[in-house]
Amino acid sequence: MANSSEDLNGFMEGVRKRSPGETEFHQAVQEVAATILPYIADKPVYKEAMILERMTEPDRTISFRVTWQDDAGNVRVNRGYRVQFNNSIGPYKGGIRFHPSVTQSVLKFLGFEQTFKNSLTQLPMGGGKGGADFNPKGKSEAEIMRFCQAFMTELSKYVGPDIDVPAGDIGVGGREIGFMFGQYKRMTNRFNGVLTGKGREFGGSLLRPEATGYGAVYMLEDMLHTKGNEIDGKRAVISGSGNVATHAAEKIIHRGGTVLTLSDSGGFIYDKDGITLERLQWIKDLKEKRRGRIEEYATEFGAEFHAGTRPWNIPCDVALPCATQNEINADEAAALIKNGCMAVSEGANMPTTIDGINNYLEAKILYAPSKAANAGGVATSGLEMSQNAAHISWKEEELSKLLRDIMHNIHAACVEYGDQGGGYVDYMKGANIAGFRKVADAMLAFGAI
Ligand code: NDP
Repeated sequence: MANSSEDLNGFMEGVRKRSPGETEFHQAVQEVAATILPYIADKPVYKEAMILERMTEPDRTISFRVTWQDDAGNVRVNRGYRVQFNNSIGPYKGGIRFHPSVTQSVLKFLGFEQTFKNSLTQLPMGGGKGGADFNPKGKSEAEIMRFCQAFMTELSKYVGPDIDVPAGDIGVGGREIGFMFGQYKRMTNRFNGVLTGKGREFGGSLLRPEATGYGAVYMLEDMLHTKGNEIDGKRAVISGSGNVATHAAEKIIHRGGTVLTLSDSGGFIYDKDGITLERLQWIKDLKEKRRGRIEEYATEFGAEFHAGTRPWNIPCDVALPCATQNEINADEAAALIKNGCMAVSEGANMPTTIDGINNYLEAKILYAPSKAANAGGVATSGLEMSQNAAHISWKEEELSKLLRDIMHNIHAACVEYGDQGGGYVDYMKGANIAGFRKVADAMLAFGAI
């Protein structure tokens, strides 16, 4: 019998052959396969049914032209996508990203990860992801609206409340969801839960904007508790300044921690005294209303701004990467560990490279991978779907308790499958196996399809 590293190399060779050049997708699959192949080595039922091979091939990948007009009347063309990865345990569910770096590879990695993440929430949601290589920066409100309408005109053929329910992601917030929902409604004459992250006035759930960032802090909190530690008094380094980062920062402050940094693609700000709730509100306004740059914070409040670089060399107790994929490389992971960082909770998707993750695992710090740490967002989207289907809306206290319970349960599932003995939990292994089992068992029940 081949050993597990030979198994992994052979498996990855097949993935690379089927999806040439899709490096982000290969990375996400490798991270999962490294723990799932040993897990299924003595479980022939999964191997004979080729479950992992099937789980690494999307059900379908749709790509389409998005034609729109800018304010000057020029015709512009972008490429839109929806990757419907796996609907074994529920309708496809996952965000839409508008960013110039969007490719099929990026969306396949995100859709693959989403399948495991959604399974971890224990809610009935399959995995999908979509987006376009459209750059919202510098576009007028009218241009954003026209792009969203053109994008939804095509996407509407493939989505629906029991088929595929997209949400927001990088570059897609409440404003864009509103434009897309409006267009879907206009085209289909249906008012239903086709999107989540909607405004409160038209079927959105309370707590959805906060859920991803808050959830990542709840995961951090549960991990620290296993070591008898609290967030209170800890110094946190956070990247990003969008939806996930600002709400993670907010919850850290609520819990008595100090937030030292936030960032955007221009660089990071370092506020030695800690970003206060008032200053955080200023950042939210800067980003959501004025669409400004994080650098302006440094001028406004006299903090440091470090251009063109990331915050991982700032000494801290805990780190929350909340911007984008591969934003912590091996050297940056090593710097975090060297400077005393005891826990990393990933708000962004796949923010750490494989070599960076290996550094966390070797140092045995507390490390919550994105599919576990940022699952609170999609979990609350699942709750929005339930509210829409039942034509009701739950109160904030109910939703808050549900979110806290879901994150506790995800933490517990990671511990169940990732406990290595001697007080060490490999949360990545735990999340991969716990997420895999439910989807795999559903696929077995369906036979060879
Ligand atoms: P936003 O668009 O609200 O914010 C993204 C932030 O990350 C911005 O500050 C942006 O800076 C920065 N950023 C994006 N790309 C890059 C880059 N290539 N280099 C440096 N900085 C970058 O997105 P979200 O907060 O919604 O998403 C952040 C991460 O969280 C993503 O990985 C997303 O997939 C993940 N996530 C989001 C969920 C949600 O509910 N929204 C749910 C689960 C995961 P700038 O403005 O300069 O581009």
